[in-house]
Order: sequence, then structure tokens, then C-alpha cells
Amino acid sequence: METALITLTLGLALGLGLWAVQLRRELAEARAQLDRCCAEQEEQSENQLEQHHALLDSMTEGVLVLNRDGHVEMTNASLRRLFSLEEDPRGRPLMEAFTLDGLSALVAAARESGELRNAEFGLAEPESRQLHVNAICPRRAGETPQTILVFHDVTRLKELENTRRDFVANVSHELRTPISLIKGFTETLLDGALDDPKKSREFLQTIDKHADRLSYLIDDLLTLSRLESGQLALNRQPTELQPLALRVHDDLRAKAAKRSIRLETDIPEGLMLDADGDRLQQAVFNLVDNAIKYGQPEGHVRIEAQPNGRGMAEVAVVDDGPGIPTTAADKVFERFFRVDKARSRETGGTGLGLAIVKHIVQSHGGRVRLESEPSTGSRFILSLPLAVKTA
Ligand code: ADP
Repeated sequence: METALITLTLGLALGLGLWAVQLRRELAEARAQLDRCCAEQEEQSENQLEQHHALLDSMTEGVLVLNRDGHVEMTNASLRRLFSLEEDPRGRPLMEAFTLDGLSALVAAARESGELRNAEFGLAEPESRQLHVNAICPRRAGETPQTILVFHDVTRLKELENTRRDFVANVSHELRTPISLIKGFTETLLDGALDDPKKSREFLQTIDKHADRLSYLIDDLLTLSRLESGQLALNRQPTELQPLALRVHDDLRAKAAKRSIRLETDIPEGLMLDADGDRLQQAVFNLVDNAIKYGQPEGHVRIEAQPNGRGMAEVAVVDDGPGIPTTAADKVFERFFRVDKARSRETGGTGLGLAIVKHIVQSHGGRVRLESEPSTGSRFILSLPLAVKTA
């Protein structure tokens, strides 16, 4: 009996011991699994955080996050570039890190309303920029949340807007002038001048001249717009310059004769350019046309060309007229710029001829420049690619 009891007790103790060992093993395994899970989760959230940072740093917009006390919590690479921040601004109060008038007011407005608020700012340093800033304060019950600010650099957009506004204003002005002249002369004719044959003829000639001016203006505007929008695809092929220059002379011979201007060429025979013949002819035509309009009566207008030894040819249109002041040398290629407004209007100029030349040359990968001194004449030089010689 006693022996049986001892055996039972020993059996129980052994069973318990084995169970305890098993339990400990299972516990250790469970703990190891938990550790693995935690490590995996930690790695996952670190990866996610890295992904978020990479995403924010790849944005062109600047991003700034403020904590509930209004201190900088996070910035992305674009924002640090925009403000040329050398030190990490984390932990600094907003106004200390970013001195932009009105930014605190924008943050306050976003916090108060809980809605998206935006404002425009002019940044003076490190360089002049126009910024559009969105601020939002996503609300969570019972706590003052973070504020997220997104900075859009709208400088280029504003510049384009200004260019567009100036262009529309210029075009309207250019259209209005001939239209009001045509209207004025028509009314005078209808009011009785029609009965005077001499006056009628004179007025009708003026109307005709201004109608032509309108038509040239619209042609040039359409050409410029097609060139700018890429609608006029270039048909580049080996194009011989000499016959092209002679075609321009043929088209303008009568006009040159009216001012007793001699048209000349100095172009090596067989000089071939890699160009769209029609577009190039239009550019050379505009330059020779200007040289006749603004050049010296009884003077000379010459088309010259020579290879420059670096795969390009320099094509120049030269006159011996009054020339262009150095200060206006770059501006003449801008739309509607005129050195002498009255003279240009009198000659029927649209103010777009040189802008078209510049566009055509640039679309060939070339450059246009002006060498001119007052009273020594003008030399417009186009650098254009030579055609590649085939054996
Ligand atoms: P426009 O239709 O007025 O001639 P352009 O764009 O062709 O317009 O030329 C711009 C301005 O440049 C002209 O108004 C004129 O003042 C000046 N200009 C162009 N070519 C010459 C030239 N060969 N000699 C003197 N001035 C010129």
C-alpha cells in the first residue's frame, strides 16, 4: 500500500515535471514568435515611414507639418530647397524657421475653421518667387491637431499669365488701330466725301492699305501660333541656299526697286543646309523685307553665307541703313517691339517679323543674333545646321 502510494506520488511528480518542461518550452516558443512578430511589424512601419519620406521628397511642392504647439515637425526636400534651409528646422517655432509675412495668420485661419485655407506670398530671398500655400488642419475629437502646409511655386505660371495678358493687350491694340482708321474713312466717305472723286480715291487707297495691314497681322499671328504650338512640323532636308536666296530676291525685287535698293548675294555655290526650305525662305524673306523697309534708299541689301567649320553655316542679311541701337539688339526679336513705332506703322510692319525669324531658326536648333551700330547698318546672322554630306 505504502509502496503503491510512493509510486503514484513519484508518477505524479514526474508527470508534473514533464508538463512544466513542456509548458516552459511552449512559453519560450510563444515569446520567440511574439518577438518575431514585433520585429516584423517594426520593420514594416519603418519601411512605410521610409516610403512616405521618399514620396514627400519626390514631390515638386514643398510640404511643412507643424505640431499642435505650432513647431516644425516635418519638412520635405522641396521646401528646404525653396527656402535654402541649411539646418534641419525640426522643433523650431514656425515664425522663427520661416519668415514669411502672413504665414502665421494662414495657419491660425486653418486651425480655427478646420477647413482648407490658402493664400499667396511673395518670397524675396534666396530668390524672388511667387508662392501659393494651402493649409489644412485635419480635426480629431478633443485635440489640437497638426497643421499641414503645401507650398506651390507659381512663379512660372504668373510669368506666363503676364505674357499672355500683355500679348492679348498688344494684339487688341494692333487690331484696333487699323479698324478704327478703316471705320473713320468709311464714315467720311458715306457722309459725303464719296461725291468728290479725288478724295474718294485717296480715302479708298488708305482703307485698302489698312485692310492689308490687318490681313498681314492675322497671317503673322497665325504663323507664330502654329510655330509655337508645333503645328507646323518641319520638313527638314538638304536645301541649297543660293536658289532660295534668289527666290526671295524675285519676290522682293519690285519693293526694293521702289527705294532704288540693290539686292545682292554672296553665297558659296552648292552650300547645302539641313532645313525646311519653306520655313527658311520665310525667315530670309522677313529679314530682306525689313532691310528694304528700314534700309538706306539707294543702298544695298546683301544675303551672305559661309560655313563656320563646326557643322553650321552663318547666313547673314546685311544692309547699310540707320542700324539699330545696341540697347535694342535683343528686344527686336520680341513680339511687337519696334525701335521706331511711327516708322514701322508707316511701312505697314506687324511687329512680328523678327519673332517669327527667331522661332524658325530655333526650331532648326540654330541661333539668331544681330550685329548693329547706329548709322553703320544692320547685320542679322542666322546660325543654321549644314546638311550632312553623303559620299
Ligand atoms: P516690323 O513688322 O515692325 O518690321 P519686325 O519684328 O520685323 O517688325 O522688326 C522689329 C523692329 O526692328 C522694327 O519695327 C524696326 O524698328 C527694327 N528693325 C528690324 N529690321 C531692321 C533693319 N534692318 N534696320 C533697322 N531697324 C530694323
